[in-house]
Amino acid sequence: MSHAVARLRATRLARSVKPFLARGGPKGERCAGCRLVPTHCICALRPVVPTRAGMCLLMADIEPLKPSNTGWLIADVVTDTFAFGWARTEVAPELLTLLNDPQWQPYVVFPEKFAESHRVVHTVHHHATKRPLFILLDGTWDEARKMFRKSPYLQHLPVLSLHPEQLSRYQLRRAQSDSHLCTAEVGALCLNLANDTQAGHALNAYFDVFTEHYLKAKQQLPVDLGDDIHLQLQAITRAA
Ligand SMILES: [Zn+2]
Repeated sequence: MSHAVARLRATRLARSVKPFLARGGPKGERCAGCRLVPTHCICALRPVVPTRAGMCLLMADIEPLKPSNTGWLIADVVTDTFAFGWARTEVAPELLTLLNDPQWQPYVVFPEKFAESHRVVHTVHHHATKRPLFILLDGTWDEARKMFRKSPYLQHLPVLSLHPEQLSRYQLRRAQSDSHLCTAEVGALCLNLANDTQAGHALNAYFDVFTEHYLKAKQQLPVDLGDDIHLQLQAITRAA
């Protein structure tokens, strides 16, 4: 199975002059489906939930190569996920086509303090004919700000500013500040706003499972498939 982020990763890898080594070194063989070591693979746990909303990931250059990238989890859960590599000087024609497709109502998801106030919205409009398309800027905080400022094709779109009630649960990159949600957490909040609540819960639960497997793999410890995190994901998947 291959999704938009997996394809972007393959394209980006093919362009690499030297092989990209994920932390952990060259010995670490990883599952092609989830990027974890095979003993900690989560492929069998991927939730299948219907969603009306779509996701459009604009990814900073090496973001698709990082095993800790959580945009990948969004592509696992949300069928209509699109992913594009971001560059200041060029834009994929397919991205422009997507943004102009009348079946979608695109929103750029970004904090309101960086946007002109007339563009800022806090809720998702429920159109009968247009499905929400959430544009997530996936990279470090500096990269995301640059993408926001330097993408002329986003400038006319509404900016959806989120007010998360909880701090980020993302523990995979230590430099990340607690107040910055990771891409999967942002995606889950967007799904909730779009009334794709079940998918939002599934993405959150799946993210927790991914984090658990990732950290346990790093510590070379086994995972407990019967712990609360796994039971929660199972319950949501069964309900779907
Ligand atoms: Zn896997």
